[in-house]
Amino acid sequence: MRHCPRCGASSDAPPAACPACGYETFVNPRPTGTVVVLDGDRFLVIRRARPPQQGLWELPGGFCDGWEHPRDAAAREAREELGVDLDFGAFIGMWIGAYEFQDETVPVLDCFWATRVPAGAAITLDPAEGSALAWVPLSDPPPLAFPTMESAIREVRRSPGRLVP
Ligand SMILES: [Zn+2]
Repeated sequence: MRHCPRCGASSDAPPAACPACGYETFVNPRPTGTVVVLDGDRFLVIRRARPPQQGLWELPGGFCDGWEHPRDAAAREAREELGVDLDFGAFIGMWIGAYEFQDETVPVLDCFWATRVPAGAAITLDPAEGSALAWVPLSDPPPLAFPTMESAIREVRRSPGRLVP
């Protein structure tokens, strides 16, 4: 049983209008910003330090905060996770995915940018975000935590040269 977020009356699962007050709820994807950090024919992966998918390899990124643009979220999350301000290249694409959050599976809109580490900058992995990092070949990537990340890598593999900063 669900409850209306405005008046607390019992209501159907979204999309629905509350039978008591008419408040409408919808199922909308939540946007994220994610980076593919490229170095020639390799890219950076980090091992997830927390659920969901803890222990699997993933790309740096995360959810948009309030009104934040996905590209800004990607830059912020990369700074938090890797300790570096990345150089941004081309937008790779966006894919709809599923994310398990607080006993629910919610739709997400994952947006990806090609990036690189600026010359002279060094990565310092935040252990709260990732327990390890690795540079892996675009041609033979490990399984990634989310299918949208694998879609982004397939897109990059088609023509990495046009995407790099
Ligand atoms: Zn209501």
